Amino acid sequence: MNDPTQPTKRLVKLSPQELRKLAEIQVKKNKDNKQAALNEASVQKLLHELQVHQIELEMQNDELQQARITEQLHYRYTELFEFAPIAYFIFDQRGKITQVNLRGSNLLGIERVHLVGKSFVNYITIPHRNNFKDCLAKVFQHKGIQSFEILVHANNTTRWLSIEANLGITGIDCLAALIDVTEKKQAENEQKLAASVFTYAREGIMITDNKSNIIDVNDSFTRITGYSREEAIGQNQRFLQSSKETPEFFYGIYQALKKDRNWSGEIWNRRKNGEVYAEMATISAVCNEHGIATHYIALVNDITPMKEHQNQLEKIAHYDVLTNLPNRVLLADRLSQAMLQCSRHKHLLAVVFLDLDGFKAVNDTHCHDVGDELLIALSVRMKEALREGDTLARIGGDEFVAILTDLDKVEDCEPVLERLLLAASEPITVTNVIFHLSASIGITIYPQDNANADQLVRHADQAMYVAKGSGKNCYHLFDTAQDDAVKMHQENLEAIRNALDHHQFVLHYQPKVNLKTGIVTGVEALIRWQHPQRGLLNPIDFLPVIENNPMNIEVGEWVIDSALTQISEWKKMGLSLLNISVNIAAVQLQQSSFTQTLTSLLAAHPDVEPRYLELEVLETSALDDINHISNIMHDCIALGVNFALDDFGTGYSSLTYLRRLPASMIKIDQSFVQDMLIDVEDLAIVESVIALAKSFKRGVIAEGVESIEHCKAILELGCDLAQGNGIAKPMPASDIPAWVNQWNPDVSWQTQ
Ligand code: C2E
Ligand code: MG
Ligand code: MG
Repeated sequence: MNDPTQPTKRLVKLSPQELRKLAEIQVKKNKDNKQAALNEASVQKLLHELQVHQIELEMQNDELQQARITEQLHYRYTELFEFAPIAYFIFDQRGKITQVNLRGSNLLGIERVHLVGKSFVNYITIPHRNNFKDCLAKVFQHKGIQSFEILVHANNTTRWLSIEANLGITGIDCLAALIDVTEKKQAENEQKLAASVFTYAREGIMITDNKSNIIDVNDSFTRITGYSREEAIGQNQRFLQSSKETPEFFYGIYQALKKDRNWSGEIWNRRKNGEVYAEMATISAVCNEHGIATHYIALVNDITPMKEHQNQLEKIAHYDVLTNLPNRVLLADRLSQAMLQCSRHKHLLAVVFLDLDGFKAVNDTHCHDVGDELLIALSVRMKEALREGDTLARIGGDEFVAILTDLDKVEDCEPVLERLLLAASEPITVTNVIFHLSASIGITIYPQDNANADQLVRHADQAMYVAKGSGKNCYHLFDTAQDDAVKMHQENLEAIRNALDHHQFVLHYQPKVNLKTGIVTGVEALIRWQHPQRGLLNPIDFLPVIENNPMNIEVGEWVIDSALTQISEWKKMGLSLLNISVNIAAVQLQQSSFTQTLTSLLAAHPDVEPRYLELEVLETSALDDINHISNIMHDCIALGVNFALDDFGTGYSSLTYLRRLPASMIKIDQSFVQDMLIDVEDLAIVESVIALAKSFKRGVIAEGVESIEHCKAILELGCDLAQGNGIAKPMPASDIPAWVNQWNPDVSWQTQ
C-alpha cells in the first residue's frame, strides 16, 4: 500500500501568460493543420477554453488533495487510538463498548473481539456499576467531561480504574480514557491506614530525629503527657524525663538502641502537670539504607494505674492490715536478706519472737475493737523500742517477730530486748481503760543457730515458750546444742523406723553350752542392724535411741517372732533341742498386754514348744512395780516359757529380784566373769552368785566367758553353763548348725 501522505503526480498550474502562449500555439497548430487564420478571436476562444479547463483541473486537484489529507488524518487518528499508551473505550448511550484500543483490551485482559458489543458494566464490580451509569448519563446530557474511579473485575483480577469520559463530536459516542490506578490506590490506602494507625492508636506515638528532637506525636501522646502536638514538636524528648530515672538508665536505653535497634521497658516520666507517671515504652530505630538511625519511634502506654494497683496488691500481700507492720511473707523476705547481709559482714543477727501475755483475756473480756486498738498502740511502742534498720513484723494475733541486724555479739541485743519488754509491760490506756500486759520473748542468734529463715523463726518461737513457762515477762535464748541433740534423735528414730519397715534388722545367735557335758544348751538371740551404709551395727548403736519410744515394743515383738521362726526352722533341720533366749526390754515386759502379745506370737508358731523360749529380763532395768512384773512373769511361765535374770549382780536390788521374780536362770554379768581371774572381788562376786543360785534353786550361767581359763575357773566354782566369746562369738543363724556339729569341749573340763 502506498503511503497516502506522500503526493504522487502534481498538477501544474499555468500562469495567464503561459495560458495565452499555449492558446496561440494551439491556434497556430490548428491553422497549420486546417489552414485556419490565426486571429485574436480564436485565441481568445481557445484561451477561454483553456482557462475553463484549467479551473476544472485545479478543482480536481483540490479534491484529490482534500481526500489525501482526510486519508492522512484518519491514518494518524487510527494510529493514535490504536497504539496510545492509555486505554480508550468508546461507549454508546447504553454503555456498550463500540470500540476499544489495544491498551484497553490489555487492561481488561480480554481480546477485543470479545469486548466489542459487550456492555461495560459487566466488568464493573457491583457497588461501582451505578457510578459508571450515572457518569455515562451525564456525558450524554452534555454535562462535559466526567471523571470517576471504579473497581473492575476482569480476567480474575480486580483493578482500580480512573476514567475520564466525554461526548464524541457526533454526539452519539462517549469517548473514555481509562488509567489503571490500582498500585496508586493501594499505596494511598496504605498511607491512609498508616495515618489512621498513628492517629487512632491507643498507644502514644512519638517520632524523633536521631538527636531525639520530636518530629511528630499522636493524640494519645497528648492524652498521656498532657502536651499538645504543637507543644511537643521541636522539643527534645528529654523534656519528659523525671528525676526518678538515673543517667545510667538512659545510657542503657541508648546502648540497647545502638546494638539491637530497639528497647522496651518501663520508664518513669513527668506529665505537663508535673505528675510522675509510669509508662511501658517500646523504642525502635528507623535506619536509612546505610544502616544509620535517622529517626526513632517510641510507642508508649500509660501503666500508672496498673502500677498503683500492683502496689496496692503488694501492700496487701506484704503488710498486716491492722498494724501496717510487715506480715509473715515480708518478714521471710527481709529475714533472708538480713541473713545474707550478716553473713557477708560477719555480723550476728537475732530473731526475736514476741508473744503478748494476757492479750487473750483482753480480747475475751472486751470487744475486739479494743483488742485491735491495743495491738496498734503496742506495735507503735515496740517499733520505737527497736533500732533503725531493725524490722518488726506481726505474724499472728498477738505474735510479733523482730529482726535485729548487725550485732557484734549476742549481748548487743539485750538492751533492745529490755526495751521491748518495757514497751509491752508499761500500762497502756485504750478507750479509757488502763491495760497491764507483758510479753514473753524467745530469741535465736544467726549464724550460731545455723538454720534457714523458717527454722530460725520456729526456734525463736520455741524459746518464747520456755520464757512463757518461766513466768512470762522475760526472754529466753534458744539452745542450739539441745536442739541439735533433739534433731539428731529425731533423725535416728526415723532411720530405725525405716530399718523396721525395710527389714534391715537381723538376729545373731551366741551359743550357750554345758562345759562339763559338752552339750549345747541353747543360743541367745542378739539383735543386729544390717545398715545399708554403716554395715552391721550392735544393739548399743541403736537400742538406746528407742528406749523410751513405742518402737522399742515393736522391735521386741519382732525379735520374739523371729526367734520363734528360727526355732521352727532349726527344728525342721533336726536341731530341735536348741532353746533360744531373747532379751526383753523392761518397758516391753511392763506392758499389761505383754502376756496377750506373747500368747498370740506363740500361737502363730504352733510347732514350737514354748519351753524352748527363754526370756532374759535385765536385772538392772528399773522394774518399778515388782509385783506387777512378777505377775506377768507368772502368767508367761504358765504359757510354758522360761525366764532368766540377765546381767545379774549389776543392780542395786539383786537379792530382792532374785527372791521375788520367778526366773529359773541367773546370768552372771560378764563384767564380773571377765575380771574374775585378775580381780579377787569379782571372783568373790561370781562365787557368791553361784552359791545364791544354788540356794534359791535356780540355774546359773556365766556370761562373757572369754577364754579357756575362764571356763576352767567357773567350772571350779561349780558353774557348768557358760556363754562367751571364748566359746563362740554371736553368729548368723545359718552358721549355728555347723558350729553345733563341730563344737567339742575341752576334755579336761569333764573331769572338773
Ligand atoms: P546381753 O543380753 O548381756 O548380751 C550379751 C552381750 O555380751 C552381747 O552383746 C554379746 O555379744 C556380748 N558378749 C558375749 N560374750 C562376750 C565376751 O566374751 N566378751 C565380750 N566383751 N562381750 C561378750 P551385744 O550383742 O552387743 O548385746 C548387748 C546388749 O544389748 C545385750 O546384753 C542386751 O542387753 C541387749 N540386746 C541385745 N539384743 C537385744 C534384743 O533383741 N532386745 C533387747 N531388748 N535387748 C537386746
Ligand atoms: Mg542377754
Ligand atoms: Mg547379759
